[in-house]
Amino acid sequence: MSVKETRVRFAPSPTGPLHMGGVRTALYNYLFAKKNQGKFILRIEDTDQNRYVEGAENYIIESLKWCGILFDEGPGTESSFGPYRQSERKHLYKEYADRLIESGHAYYAFDSAEELEEMRNMAKKAKMPNWQYNSITRNSMKNSLTLSNEEVESKLNNGEQYTIRIKMPRNQDVRFYDEIRGWVVVNTNNMDDKVIYKGDGMPTYHLANVVDDYLMKISHVIRGEEWLPSAPLHVLLYQFLGWEDIMPKFAHLPLILKPDGNGKLSKRDGDRLGFPVFPLQWEDPVTKEVSSGYREKGYYPEAFINMLAFLGWNPGTSKEMYSLDELIQDFSLERVGKSGAKFDPEKTKWFNQQHLRIKSNSELAESIMPSLDYNVNTTFLEKVVELMKERATFSNELLSEDYFFESPKEFDEKTFRKKWKENSSEIMQDLFNQINELEDFTTENIENTFKEFITKKEIGMGAVLPCMRLILTGKGMGPSVFAIASLLGKEEVMSRYQEKNQYFSHLFLAKKQVQ
Ligand code: GLU
Repeated sequence: MSVKETRVRFAPSPTGPLHMGGVRTALYNYLFAKKNQGKFILRIEDTDQNRYVEGAENYIIESLKWCGILFDEGPGTESSFGPYRQSERKHLYKEYADRLIESGHAYYAFDSAEELEEMRNMAKKAKMPNWQYNSITRNSMKNSLTLSNEEVESKLNNGEQYTIRIKMPRNQDVRFYDEIRGWVVVNTNNMDDKVIYKGDGMPTYHLANVVDDYLMKISHVIRGEEWLPSAPLHVLLYQFLGWEDIMPKFAHLPLILKPDGNGKLSKRDGDRLGFPVFPLQWEDPVTKEVSSGYREKGYYPEAFINMLAFLGWNPGTSKEMYSLDELIQDFSLERVGKSGAKFDPEKTKWFNQQHLRIKSNSELAESIMPSLDYNVNTTFLEKVVELMKERATFSNELLSEDYFFESPKEFDEKTFRKKWKENSSEIMQDLFNQINELEDFTTENIENTFKEFITKKEIGMGAVLPCMRLILTGKGMGPSVFAIASLLGKEEVMSRYQEKNQYFSHLFLAKKQVQ
């Protein structure tokens, strides 16, 4: 028996920017395809012209590229399965709608939008708020099941507006196996006669989706849980079109929930709680409203996808740090959970911090060099990176301290007030004189000199170290002062000492007089 090639697709509709839930769907499809030596396909589902948003397709493609989720087939690639935009496949769908009509599984409906509205209103008045066009109500509507053949013919010939609806069978259980949720059973009495084709020559999502999955030989449909209610209809379409034996497998991914777990994560939660929900910044072409993106906020794509991978999947071990290749290695649908995954903005930062830490100093230095306003060499910048790395979540934080590049212009008043004492200036004088003696200005030598100094003088570290830090950096906290001193070099250290020690001792006296 030949094994079916793994072919999966990500099938977004270009109705706006891609939400991070969409990126996760793309990621899982990609991981699954690569894990199984298969193909990952990008299909643009743009049949609903009313919802088309300028720039959305580009945005989707850019986002996937940024994440490293590269498609094997999609817009712009050549293959016998293309084109990959449904609007360019328009001519393909009618044939299947016709086939369904011929086999009695679909019918023409001529009810106008006003007539349908009227039915809904009447039902509402009769206390039946959820009116549907279904296996019961269709019998009192204007369609090819209630009209005579001649009437139908003449309406079609006269170019009257029509839709094609699926003819839902009565009381039949539709069963299918979902790779994540197990068996799903839905009775057709709970399903309506969905429109599958519109008179304007466009299929609706349901028909186009099924036909394309069939024509593109899709082996697994991996998509968000919001599509689970549509799956029984899709299964029926496969049956009605005689494709049951080659129907793809289904896997519906759990929802991504708000940080508090109450409901689906939405764009508004991002605005409210201050984190992006989109991979890239997006400007609405009509309202010009700008939504923030992970890329622009300084997140690494590898941290973003590492975080996304864990929103619904886990490897079953304590390993959390993953590269894309490692995710491909370990990913499986069996380890995707059924229940919603809570989005955690803090954890997202954590992932970024961890991914920053595993980067080499030279890579980080190279990436921040262009945004540095000072003229320093790469080796120096690599050392700055080394010292700042442990404290940074984003790479721009590696450059948050100007004292590496120039004598501090400001100082931390609180530290000064608490730590600078009457005798501090004298202590600093002694200490810096000692340091000045050092031939080899290494971190270790400076640290040893410092330690010998406080032991000999019998003064506590707390009375000396903060003053030394104030002189060199103007700050109360930061990376090792000894390492900073070594990096700045003896000349700079002594020059800062001369300038600041005098400044602080004057300041101390001035404040004392005021009191
Ligand atoms: N066009 C649908 C969407 O926007 C695709 C759903 C599916 O994958 O079947 O998500």
